[in-house]
Amino acid sequence: MEATVLMEQAKQNILHTYNRFPIVLDHGQGVYLYDTDGKKYLDFTAGIAVQALGYGDQEYNEALKAQIDKLLHTSNLYYNQPIIDAAEKLCAASGLDYAFFTNSGAEAVEGAIKTAKKYAYLKDGCTDHEIIAMNQSFHGRTLGALSVTGNAHYREPFEPLPGIVKFADYNDLGSVKALITEKTCAIIMETVQGEGGIYPAEEEFLRAVKEICVKNDILLILDEIQCGMGRTGEMFAWQAYDVKPDLMVTAKALGCGVPVGAFVMTKKVANASLKPGDHGTTYGGNPFVGAAVSKVFDIFAQRNLTAHVKEIGGYLETQLEQLKSEYDCIADRRGVRLMQGLQLNIPVGDVAAKALQQGLLVITAGNNVLRFVPPLVIEKEHVDEMMEKIKVVLSSVTEH
Ligand SMILES: *Cc1c(COP(=O)(O)O)cnc(C)c1O
Repeated sequence: MEATVLMEQAKQNILHTYNRFPIVLDHGQGVYLYDTDGKKYLDFTAGIAVQALGYGDQEYNEALKAQIDKLLHTSNLYYNQPIIDAAEKLCAASGLDYAFFTNSGAEAVEGAIKTAKKYAYLKDGCTDHEIIAMNQSFHGRTLGALSVTGNAHYREPFEPLPGIVKFADYNDLGSVKALITEKTCAIIMETVQGEGGIYPAEEEFLRAVKEICVKNDILLILDEIQCGMGRTGEMFAWQAYDVKPDLMVTAKALGCGVPVGAFVMTKKVANASLKPGDHGTTYGGNPFVGAAVSKVFDIFAQRNLTAHVKEIGGYLETQLEQLKSEYDCIADRRGVRLMQGLQLNIPVGDVAAKALQQGLLVITAGNNVLRFVPPLVIEKEHVDEMMEKIKVVLSSVTEH
């Protein structure tokens, strides 16, 4: 059916919570997407950092098809092998010990918060513990995840939000220290802030926060939902910092397209927190998503994707730096490897809209950042193609 008709139909029954780009996507192959009119788009969005393997990966698709024919869902009242394998691979890749699988990133954040609260509760029997989160952070849209999201626009209409949460400035150790009390049970942050505008944690900051946590028996929760799963050239971004979290949350590229997340923790935390009956989910970690996660880890290892990201991410970074030197409208470049942002001093929404017309999918972050989170399987030729398109766009918007 024609795109305009479909978009009109969408307006009738889909709740208007997104101002979507005016295209209807139909299918994908490699790092390209095609709309219902047959127009081709180079994808530097990857379904918001989800489609690490791009589209139509045969090995991944075959694994999912086989699992559909075998067993889709059983509930968590019984064991199933795909999720047992997935948990083993996730723990091996992270060096953490125990995983709980969820259906989304926000639910993983909820689980991590519950774990931290139970850990503190078992120590002193009190229920007035505090969490420190970061300004400009993003952890999801459920009430619990919103409670630690440092963005007034997302929060305000839904207050009061659960729990006692205080906000520090990211990469500002003094502001974290100032909020620590004997009631602090957890500090949560993204290793690289995504939605807030692509800000990587500074090494010194992260290490110092970890030290504070160790000294005070506060749990460090790192949100790797966007920056994890190879995007920064490490399986998880914190692995470049020599800082290990007590709890990690992951989702997005964990399943490369199926809805799955997880919160993962050390043995020490697991032994002193959630017990049978404390947490649950009907769908979470079913055989279908288990088969996807398990296959994703196999593919990452077989194809040495993190090494590829180091190489191609370095190339993207160099090219974006070059672009910055050529265009006055680019105020800053930030990011790590295949998680990049260009801060613009022109309306960034216009740039993303014009890019779409040029057949390039890019999204924004914060108020003024153009975000590049392509599939991890992109090659140099795709970076070059993106550069050509973005130059056309930037030239057209800056000349007027
Ligand atoms: C996307 C995201 C979330 C929320 O994940 P959902 O699957 O949308 O619930 C949480 N934290 C970060 C850093 C994210 O990028």
